[in-house]
Amino acid sequence: MNNYQKNYLDQPKGNILIVDDIPDNLRVLSATLTEQNYRVRCAKNGLMALKGALRMQPDLILLDIKMPDMDGYEVCQQLKANDQTREIPVIFLSALDDVLDKIKAFEVGGVDYITKPFQVAEVLARVTTHITLQTAKREIEKLNQQLEQRVQKRTVELEAANQQLKQEIAERERIEQQLVHDALHDTLTGLPNRNLLMERIEFAIQHTKRHENYLFAVLFIDLDRFKLVNDSLGHLVGDRLLMAIAHILQECLRGNDMVARLGGDEFVILLDDIQDITYATKIAEHIQTKLRSPLNLANQTVFTSASIGIVLSSTGYQNSSDLLRDADIAMYRAKGRGKARYEVFDQAMYAQTLELLQLENNLRLACRRGEFLLHYQPIVSLLTGELLGFEALLRWQHPEKGLILPAQFIDVAEDTGLIIPIGEWVLRVACHQLRTWQLQFPSVPRVASLKMSVNLASQQLKEPQFAQKLDRILQETGLDGNCLKLEFTESMLIDSGEATQKILSQIRNKGIQLGIDDFGKGYSSLSYLHRFPINTLKIDRSFVSQMNIDRENFEIVRTIITLAHTLGMDAIAEGVEDIEQFTQLQQLGCEFAQGYLFSKPLERRAAESVIAMDSKYLTLFRKKSLGLTR
Ligand code: C2E
Ligand code: MG
Ligand code: MG
Repeated sequence: MNNYQKNYLDQPKGNILIVDDIPDNLRVLSATLTEQNYRVRCAKNGLMALKGALRMQPDLILLDIKMPDMDGYEVCQQLKANDQTREIPVIFLSALDDVLDKIKAFEVGGVDYITKPFQVAEVLARVTTHITLQTAKREIEKLNQQLEQRVQKRTVELEAANQQLKQEIAERERIEQQLVHDALHDTLTGLPNRNLLMERIEFAIQHTKRHENYLFAVLFIDLDRFKLVNDSLGHLVGDRLLMAIAHILQECLRGNDMVARLGGDEFVILLDDIQDITYATKIAEHIQTKLRSPLNLANQTVFTSASIGIVLSSTGYQNSSDLLRDADIAMYRAKGRGKARYEVFDQAMYAQTLELLQLENNLRLACRRGEFLLHYQPIVSLLTGELLGFEALLRWQHPEKGLILPAQFIDVAEDTGLIIPIGEWVLRVACHQLRTWQLQFPSVPRVASLKMSVNLASQQLKEPQFAQKLDRILQETGLDGNCLKLEFTESMLIDSGEATQKILSQIRNKGIQLGIDDFGKGYSSLSYLHRFPINTLKIDRSFVSQMNIDRENFEIVRTIITLAHTLGMDAIAEGVEDIEQFTQLQQLGCEFAQGYLFSKPLERRAAESVIAMDSKYLTLFRKKSLGLTR
C-alpha cells in the first residue's frame, strides 16, 4: 500500500472542489491535496463548478478567477446567491498579484486567495486554515442547532409547567373563594350566615357615625312552631320549608338589603338606607302576608307564620351584637304577644328583659334555697256551705321582696323549665299536707273527704315519667288518690293528642280527679271536651266577677254550668267575692265556689284552724253571710 492509498483509506480531512480551466493546474493541486488526505473533485469551468457544488457540497472551493465563459467572480456570486452553497468558503486562485482583483475577490464573498504559481506550503496552509475554520463553523452551527433545540424543548417544557402552574393557581383561587364563600354562607339556603351579617351590620353602624341622616333597620325573624313541622313532617320537609322561607324573604327585599340565616329557623334582614321606621314595618307586614299562603313542600301542605322583631339604627348602637340582641328581644316580645306579628324594639323592652333574666336567676336560687311555700284557699260547697277542700297555691318567700305571687314568676318558671322541679315540689308538699291534716284532725268528721287541688303546668303532663312520679308521691305521702284533684288549662288539651289522653286516663285510674282551670278564658273549643275524662270545669274568675253587672257574662257562666252538667261534670266558680254572685251561682246550680267571700288563700296554720273549726266555722259562715239552713 503506497502513501496515497494509505491516506485515502484514512478519514479524509475534508472535501475540496478545485475549479480551474487549466488542466495542469488542476492536476498539480489535486495531487498535492489528495496527498494530504483531502478528498478532491475537479471542475474545469464555472458551470460545472456550480453543478458540482450543488450536487455534493464541498467543505472548500478553490476557484480560479480567470476562466472563459464565466469567470471566478461570477461563479462565486452565484454560489453566494444560493442558500445551499452560500456558506461554502471560496479561495480564489489568481495568476495575477493584482490589488483590484483581491478587493473584488473579497467583495463577491471570497475568504482568501492564492496566487499562482502555487507554493505548496502556502496552499496547504491556507486550505488547512479554512477547512479548520469551516469545520469549526459547522461545529458551532451544529452546537447552535442543538442549543436551539434544547432551548425550544425547555421552552415547551416551561410553557407546560407554566400552564400547569396557572391551572394550579386558578384551582387554588377557586378553592380559596369557595372557602371564603362557605365561611360566610349558610349551606342549606345559600344565604349569608351570621358572620357575613355581623360584618354588614358592623359596616352599617360605622356608616351611621359618619352620615347623620343614614338610617338602617334589622328584622329578626323566627318561624312560629317550626319544631312542630320538623318533628311531625320530618327533616326533609323542615329543610324545604327553610329554603322556601329563604326564597320568600329574598323576594321581599331591594337589591342593597340583605337576608341572612342565623341557624335553625332564625333569619335576619338588614334593610339598608331607609327613610324611617314605616319602611321596616311595611316589609314586616309584607313578609307576614306572604307567609299566610300555604306552602306545598314535598307533597305536603304546610302553614307557617313568623314572629318578627325590628330594631332601628337610630337607637345609637356601638356594635352589631347589641343590635341583634335587641332585635331578638323584640322578636320574643312578638312571640309573647301571640306570635305571627311584629314588634319594634324600645328601651323599656330591654329593661324588662334584664328584669326577666334577673328573675330567672333568682328563681333558680329560690329552688335551691327552698324559698317556696304553699297557701291554701278553701273551696266551699254552694249547696251545703261545707268545706270541699283546698286549692294549693304557690308562693315565693323572697328574702328581700317578701311574698311574691305566682303571676310574677310562673311564666318564667314555665319558659325555663323550672316549673318541672317546682311543680313536683308543690305536688309533694300539697299531698303531704292533706295527709298530715287527716292524721292531725281524726275527730273532724269531714277531714277524710277533703280534697286537695293542685295546679299543673303543661310541661308536667308532657313529662314521660309523670304517672310514675304521681304514684311515688302518693305512696311516699300516704295520701289516697281520691283526695287529690289536678287542675290544668284548656290550652293543654287543645295542643294535645293521644299521649295526653292516655296520661289523663292513667291519672283518673288512680282515683285522682281532673279539673279544667280558668274555663272559658282560653280557646273554648268544645269539640275536645268529651274526649277527656274530666270531672270539673272551673269557671274563670273574669266571668264570675262580672256576672252580676253584665248580662253577657252571666249568660256565659250559666252556659258553662249547663255544659258541665251535660257532660257529667261539676262546676266550681272561681273568684266569688260577693253575696250576689254567690246567690246567682247557687240558683244556676253551680256546685262549688272559691273566692274572697269565703276566704283568701291561707297560710298552713290558718287553713288548719278552718279545718279544726269545721262545722263551727261553716255554721258561723252560713248564719252570718248566707242564711243557709241545714
Ligand atoms: P288559679 O289556679 O286560677 O288560682 C286562682 C287564683 O285566683 C289564685 O291566685 C287566687 O289567689 C286567686 N283568687 C281566688 N279567689 C279570688 C277572689 O275572690 N278574687 C281575686 N281577685 N282573686 C282570687 P294566685 O294564687 O295568685 O295564683 C295565680 C295563678 O298562678 C293560679 O291561678 C295558677 O294558674 C297559678 N299557680 C298558682 N300556684 C301554682 C302551682 O303550684 N303550679 C302552677 N303550675 N301554677 C300555679
Ligand atoms: Mg287553679
Ligand atoms: Mg283559675
